[in-house]
Amino acid sequence: MREQLENFLKKVQKKYGYEQVMTPHIGDVKLYKTSGHFQKYGQDSFQPISTPAEGEEYLLKPMNCPHHCEIYKAWPRSYKDLPVRMAEFGTVYRYEQSGELHGLTRVRSFTQDDAHIFCRPDQLKDEFKKVIDIIFIIFKALNFENYTAQISLRDPNKPEKYIGSPENWDKAEEAIIEACEEKGLNTVTELGEAAFYGPKLDFMIKDALGRSWQLGTIQVDYNLPERFELEYIGADDNRHRPVMIHRAPFGSMERFVAVLIEHTAGKFPLWLTPEQVVVLPISEKYNDYAKKVSDFLNISDIRTVVDDRNEKIGRKIRDNELKRIPYLLIVGEKEAESDSVAVRRQGEGDKGTMTLEEFAEFINKEVRDQLSGLYN
Ligand SMILES: [Zn+2]
Repeated sequence: MREQLENFLKKVQKKYGYEQVMTPHIGDVKLYKTSGHFQKYGQDSFQPISTPAEGEEYLLKPMNCPHHCEIYKAWPRSYKDLPVRMAEFGTVYRYEQSGELHGLTRVRSFTQDDAHIFCRPDQLKDEFKKVIDIIFIIFKALNFENYTAQISLRDPNKPEKYIGSPENWDKAEEAIIEACEEKGLNTVTELGEAAFYGPKLDFMIKDALGRSWQLGTIQVDYNLPERFELEYIGADDNRHRPVMIHRAPFGSMERFVAVLIEHTAGKFPLWLTPEQVVVLPISEKYNDYAKKVSDFLNISDIRTVVDDRNEKIGRKIRDNELKRIPYLLIVGEKEAESDSVAVRRQGEGDKGTMTLEEFAEFINKEVRDQLSGLYN
């Protein structure tokens, strides 16, 4: 399921001009000292791994951002190269006390659907709008209808709490507010909730039971470009600092899967569900044919399993209906002789008999229809 989510988001991101990068699971501790993460979280985190021979210290990667800043710096950048949009399904490691661990929602190693956008200040609003578009595409693909968005701004009475010039802050806050208005978002605005390094926009969704979950975040950052001395050459031939946007629409993949399980009560959309089809031979005599059906469908990119338990067909149907596998294919003598399957839709019942080719096309069309227009 996670692979489906990742593939889906990769396709959407490709459409929006992201490049996919990969960075290591460990990094030189200097990186996180430059970013300031080590000073802030180092004591409470996993301790450095040291190399006795060379005296180097490495950390399990706590954040992807410093690595992406290094990739940005690997080439000279001109104003024409911007925005640079770098995406990575990056696994990060954070120490949580054992008492804090909880299912898939609080873990010590999790994968962010992370990306960093390095842009010029005048591109901030457009980039923000594009990230909002991506979040909407995800909500649509997963039928999240009930969401709220929170804009977090600085506390105007405590300017000393924030880094970056007041002019930059004004520009960034204005860009977020306008982007949300132009996209027609329902928003609440909270003063004083911004991070010390920039304002942000958070999305909250309500699951099927009405509980709120925080999902995607879009965060403006003036701090890391400063700390990593990121630059681009402007149209005026001078050096300028880019603005950085951190964004993760799912947040953590592990946590997102947990939210999805709660939201859908296990009844996932066809394109996403781990098992799309189960083949049910009516007796052991047809196990070989059932296997042939499942091989054919798996090769056709349809995730298929066989229930070849020695049980009565009625029992097999009941058990697999409860597992919420979308399609149940019943096969016996008639089907084996004609290379066909008797199709049942979970929760709906009989859909008639189809040849293997017809069924493969039928289900692939349903998947295409679910995702149509979202990334193509
Ligand atoms: Zn980041």
